[in-house]
Amino acid sequence: MTGTRVLVLNSGSSSLKYQLLDMSDSALLAQGLVERIGERTSRLRHTPAGGETRAQDGPIADHDAALKAVAAELDRDGLGLDSPELVAIGHRVVHGGQRFTEPTVVDDSVLAEIERLIPVAPLHNPANLTGIRTARALRPDLPQVAVFDTAFHTTMPESAARYALDVATADAHRVRRYGFHGTSHAYVSRATAKLLGRAPKDVNVIVLHLGNGASASAVRGGRCVDTSMGLTPLEGLVMGTRSGDLDPAVIFHLMRVGEMSADEIDTLLNKRSGLIGLCGDNDMREILRRIDEGDEQARLAFDIYIHRLKKYIGAYYAVLGRVDAIAFTAGVGENAAPVREAALAGLDELGIRVDGGLNAVRADGARLISPPAARVAVAVVPTDEELEIATQTYALVGKGGPEST
Ligand code: ADP
Repeated sequence: MTGTRVLVLNSGSSSLKYQLLDMSDSALLAQGLVERIGERTSRLRHTPAGGETRAQDGPIADHDAALKAVAAELDRDGLGLDSPELVAIGHRVVHGGQRFTEPTVVDDSVLAEIERLIPVAPLHNPANLTGIRTARALRPDLPQVAVFDTAFHTTMPESAARYALDVATADAHRVRRYGFHGTSHAYVSRATAKLLGRAPKDVNVIVLHLGNGASASAVRGGRCVDTSMGLTPLEGLVMGTRSGDLDPAVIFHLMRVGEMSADEIDTLLNKRSGLIGLCGDNDMREILRRIDEGDEQARLAFDIYIHRLKKYIGAYYAVLGRVDAIAFTAGVGENAAPVREAALAGLDELGIRVDGGLNAVRADGARLISPPAARVAVAVVPTDEELEIATQTYALVGKGGPEST
């Protein structure tokens, strides 16, 4: 095998995000997004590295048509998907259950297992499967690699992964804590160790992935030992539109007293709760702006968000026993200095301090925002899930992998 290019696909129910990378130097060659697939108002935006973004509006019927449109755009840049330079396609797959602990070359049995997991990931796995099947049909000769959001968390001990539920019932329905955003937690925990100039195996990190969805993880020596999302991405932190943790009896109460159906409550907790439920906005920029104007509702939403975050930081400090670093990542974590400051305020006794000046600096790369003398390093580490998927894919099928045998 001579090529070094990997295409990364992230297929949603009506979207397809992609990046083409050259893994000889991890360079991004092109990236883009197809939105509103299946609607009349579909749109493709494609950006070659160092070039202008090209937009294409008009109906794109399905994922097959979307991938073909992407292939045509890549062709225009001389990066066609039929090039021998392309060695694999890496797919983000949200739920890998307990079986998939590593990136996996897709065959029929892998597809069947991802399908079997649909009941625990009804929103995501069907779309991810569609993406894999479409790419496979287009390039049947090429290895398709599934990289699972849950994989990094499969190292959690049973004490963290199991709910305190009747074991037979839990096992019959595969109810346990799987965790999500694993690709990001893996990448960021490693990048944090690198920032500290230490090997991942020697470093304990609390990773706070704060995007629209949000999750925390406790990583001991490069292995995840606890994470805040559970059976689904609903558990844990307050998120843009999700409630995160609540007393499970809230659900029975809403059923019995509020006369709501399971589907209505599902929508309430996933789409109309969290920051948007608390104050009508899920964009942290807007919330911070409203707080500046003295808006009490936005202030309360922020305080609830921070309170939950702080509880998880404390919990994971206790789980790890020794914390070397706390890393903030994703849209809010990378950009919202007031969130970082508030989440870690008052934790001096734990060796956690934020330098106000460093925290206020806006910069692109990974950086420290704690004073040099602080016992716990606090870092801002931009996540790069696509690069991580490409890296894992290339490691699997690159030299020495199945293609070369
Ligand atoms: P996801 O991938 O979960 O959709 P991202 O990681 O892209 O989310 O994060 C999106 C969120 O990041 C937005 O909802 C917004 O609240 C937040 N965000 C982005 N930029 C800023 C900023 N400059 N200041 C505060 N929050 C920001």
